[in-house]
Amino acid sequence: MPERTPYIAANWKMNKTVAEAAEFIDTLLPRIAATQADVVVCAPFTALTAVVERRYGTAVKVAAQNMHEEASGAFTGEVSAPMLVELDVEAVVLGHSERRQFFGETDEVLARKVPAALAADLEPILCVGESEAARDGGETEEVLERQLQADLAAVEAADLERVVVAYEPIWAIGTGRTATPEQAQEACAFIRDVLRARGAAADRVRILYGGSMKPANAAELLALPDVDGGLIGGASLDPEDFAAIVEASG
Ligand code: PEP
Repeated sequence: MPERTPYIAANWKMNKTVAEAAEFIDTLLPRIAATQADVVVCAPFTALTAVVERRYGTAVKVAAQNMHEEASGAFTGEVSAPMLVELDVEAVVLGHSERRQFFGETDEVLARKVPAALAADLEPILCVGESEAARDGGETEEVLERQLQADLAAVEAADLERVVVAYEPIWAIGTGRTATPEQAQEACAFIRDVLRARGAAADRVRILYGGSMKPANAAELLALPDVDGGLIGGASLDPEDFAAIVEASG
């Protein structure tokens, strides 16, 4: 089985001014200088350049938190993949549950955004995950399969390994309620099976867990066989906490 490089991503959401982002990166870099992991900072659009400029020559990759599927056009307030690539941004979060819930991001739109990101050479970090009601109703796998099949419908099998998938149970995001290691492993293994059935070189796909990951629980979650990294919200706002999670990845 190919070794998968751990992938630890900070999702800052709508946090950090340019000055705060710069301060974070300056504190983080010496703390993670020896890491073998891919460390990714998902910054607000306004802070992307500040992060990009500070991370040259380091292990840190930079991601946006959203993008439009078209390259340009009359879409007021939107930002496209070529615009992000021009800034030297390398990845983009797509389908975060907050965007699905508050901004009407649908599987139909995601089916266009994921290939648009790949075509522009941006690494999509595709978020999928079930609601509390779906988990309680025993529908977790059905929801994950539906989201994956819909969002990746237009991605060629050979390109699936270029997608990073984040399993983010909605009930665990920002709630302090973390999935148990068994729940996280089961869901991430299921996601890998779905990708394999779609023709992916599934052993090469990085699958992340996201949902109240913090220094205290990171090592246990990151040691799971099908969890290749984390997408971290709240605990990624503090560079010491985030560095501790990077360290826990190996
Ligand atoms: C997220 O927003 O992707 C996330 C996992 O948030 P938190 O770590 O705060 O639960």
